[in-house]
Amino acid sequence: MPSANLPVTITVLGSGTSVGVPTLGCRCAVCRSDDPRDKRLRPSVLVQYNGKNVLVDTTPDFRYQAIRAGLDRLDAVLFTHAHADHILGLDDIRPLNAFQGGPVPIYASPETLDVIRRCFCYAFDGKAKESSSPELTVHELDGRPFDLFGLTVLPVPVRHGSLTIYGYRFGLHAAYITDQSDIPEDSIAMLRGLDVLFLDALRHRPHPTHTTVERALQFVERIQPRRAFFTHICHDLGHAATEAALPGHVRLAYDMLTITAAGEAH
Ligand SMILES: [Zn+2]
Ligand SMILES: [Zn+2]
Repeated sequence: MPSANLPVTITVLGSGTSVGVPTLGCRCAVCRSDDPRDKRLRPSVLVQYNGKNVLVDTTPDFRYQAIRAGLDRLDAVLFTHAHADHILGLDDIRPLNAFQGGPVPIYASPETLDVIRRCFCYAFDGKAKESSSPELTVHELDGRPFDLFGLTVLPVPVRHGSLTIYGYRFGLHAAYITDQSDIPEDSIAMLRGLDVLFLDALRHRPHPTHTTVERALQFVERIQPRRAFFTHICHDLGHAATEAALPGHVRLAYDMLTITAAGEAH
């Protein structure tokens, strides 16, 4: 029986927007900041429960992020969508295939899998290889909740500009939503009663495919998690100054932040 009630530990592997912070070629105050929380790799989290390591998205920084986090085993990858900042590190799972002696299961929508199959065609062509390629078992999501290592995982549809992409709820207590520009009412309802909610909050200025800090706060108001963490942050937002203006139960995520979501604190 899958459970909804397991504690879930989430480690932020990257809290930055698609180009990362510091941003290549930029000399702004945040890009030159000495605060380690202003160093943001591309957006991804590691979700740990039941002794399993579940990754959300394989960013272009995946290899370094995994080494930094001490990741030595990967039990599954969930993809939110197929933009470059969320998929381009997939090739770097190859050493884990070798050490684990087998494929890594990946989970994504049909649209996301289409792009992954094109970008990484050599991993899917079935041809004999002279060298290694990522070994994957593909699980196409149809929007229904599914059991993953004893926990119910719920794909949560959100708008990302003109796209519909997935965030994920892990059992009762935690959800990771990134790259949302809007959250439909049905999906708001799927996010009730959380201990920990991650949301995209790119910057203060509006963006067609992301959410401002102010709008992210409105989502927090509607969803009412016990704690919220903003991620996918660009160089407009210095960590210390931005966080000082947020309510106490809302924090800015930063790289290597680890949060355990559990029920007892409700
Ligand atoms: Zn993104
Ligand atoms: Zn995106």
